[in-house]
Amino acid sequence: MPKAVYYLDGITKITDPFYKCVCRGCRHFFWVTLIDSPCPECGSDNIFRSFNKREAEGELLRLSESE
Ligand SMILES: [Zn+2]
Repeated sequence: MPKAVYYLDGITKITDPFYKCVCRGCRHFFWVTLIDSPCPECGSDNIFRSFNKREAEGELLRLSESE
């Protein structure tokens, strides 16, 4: 078994897939590897994160329907 290698946060494994993120502030959709990455568009840390792209798209849809 290869040893797990982690990013600097000590949580995210190099082999982990990207988080699919939806900013609840500006609804920017983006992918990151670090769980605590803020929105690159508006800097908000109110972010929905999931490894599952469908869940992230569902959240995006939920946000757009909640207006
Ligand atoms: Zn944003």
